[in-house]
Amino acid sequence: MLRLSFMQKMLKKYGLLVWLSLILIAGFVSTTVASFVVSRDAIQQGISEQTLPITGDNVYSEIQKDILRPVFVSSQMAHDTFLRDWIINGEEDKDQIVKYLKEIKQKNHAISSFLISDQTRNYYHADGVLKTISDTEPRDQWFFRVRSLKSDYETNVDIDMANRDTMTIFINYRILDYSGKFIGVTGIGLTLDTMKNLIDSYQTRFRRNIFFVDQKGNIALAGNNMKKIRSNLSAMPGLGSLAPQILANRKSESQHLEYKNGTETILVNARFIPELGWHLLVEQEMGNEIKPLQNVFLINIAISAGITLVILAILLLTVRRYQRRLEKSASTDTLTNLLNRQAFDFVFQQALLDSERSRQPMCVVLLDIDFFKKVNDKQGHLVGDHVLKEIALISKRSLRESDIICRWGGEEFLILLKNCTLEKATSIAENLRNTIANNDFSRTTDLTRTRLSITVSMGVAECKDKESEASVFERADLALYQAKENGRNSVYFSE
Ligand code: GH3
Ligand code: MG
Ligand code: MG
Repeated sequence: MLRLSFMQKMLKKYGLLVWLSLILIAGFVSTTVASFVVSRDAIQQGISEQTLPITGDNVYSEIQKDILRPVFVSSQMAHDTFLRDWIINGEEDKDQIVKYLKEIKQKNHAISSFLISDQTRNYYHADGVLKTISDTEPRDQWFFRVRSLKSDYETNVDIDMANRDTMTIFINYRILDYSGKFIGVTGIGLTLDTMKNLIDSYQTRFRRNIFFVDQKGNIALAGNNMKKIRSNLSAMPGLGSLAPQILANRKSESQHLEYKNGTETILVNARFIPELGWHLLVEQEMGNEIKPLQNVFLINIAISAGITLVILAILLLTVRRYQRRLEKSASTDTLTNLLNRQAFDFVFQQALLDSERSRQPMCVVLLDIDFFKKVNDKQGHLVGDHVLKEIALISKRSLRESDIICRWGGEEFLILLKNCTLEKATSIAENLRNTIANNDFSRTTDLTRTRLSITVSMGVAECKDKESEASVFERADLALYQAKENGRNSVYFSE
């Protein structure tokens, strides 16, 4: 009975701990994960809707400074009446146009200024006539492209033949005569270094990838780290799938896009720059941005695990202590601190099995205080209680460590003497009776001043082989009855 209820208690105890751990872990994990997801989404949204568009805006305004002004200069050149008249009038004084181009170049800090006449196919620049262009020369193909262009001008990133083949952005502006007929191309060329440096500084500062693609998706301009210049957007891993969407956009509003490269999420801001006919792309990997967040996430999980363990340890200790106290109070008599009857039952069963196994004799002694009612009546209940405690103490002191004593009922005690014959048990009982009879119970209490003598009667019985518990107690009770009948303050045994 006792063992079963103890098992149930253990199960209940650990069941509670398991439930609490699960609730704590679930609580910690869900709040940590939720805060991680919310923060990650906020960072992603911030980058996508603010940071990348701002980078795009900055790059765009730099472009306006660097390129739109040359576009304007080239437009002025193409509409210059001197230049147009000079071509229409047969390109006579070459010094005049060379001087003009030199002026334009110096004034605008351009890397080159040029004029190609459709009539003579002469390529004029700031230092004279460079060459005569030919429709069979691949390097001159750009002229024939501009010749048949629908719009007024194009921007073209190309190598500059007049400047040791450095990468240059050319503004190729169509020159028309007064009747609108195409008569040549003029414009200036700028080195891309300024733009490249700008892109590089953005890229290193913000770990962003910045580049331009033309309307066909070919990479037109990128930072120094981008080796794949001239490769096509649609051939780029991940980004390729977004190419049609990016290239279809002809509005100035930027697009917020994203793609996956393996497990990495990459955010893209794409905008069309009508002045250049190019798309500006700003990319950013999310990984680096959320790395600190992942660290915080791991720290949170570790702290939560620590807190969970501490709480569980405290709880386990508290439950254990409470449990022990509960077990003790359930099995102990509070007045005398002896085992109570239920606990004794369990102990007695164990002892009976042990004695049968080891074939050692075992005896029970039933002790009853004589005229205890009178003590209560005359001295009061408090004295009565004191006597009960004192008898428990005396009994404990005079018995062996292995003997078990229990409060059987009101003023009755039951003693279990292991490994003890009936004769020995009777003599132990007799000794105890004598000790109690000679004890002055008033000495250990302030409740009474007069000497207080108490006597007890006892019945002894030896547990016989295969004898039931009830039977051995009954025999001890009978012996006790005899002791009471025959004048009390004596020990009787049952044969
Ligand atoms: P006898 O010699 O025949 O045993 O006489 P007795 O007065 O001891 O007999 P009885 O069994 O009739 O009385 C027992 C009394 O013990 C009755 C009850 O009031 C008292 N008693 C039982 N438990 C307690 C207790 O915890 N404290 C106190 N003070 N008295 C108790
Ligand atoms: Mg009694
Ligand atoms: Mg009594």
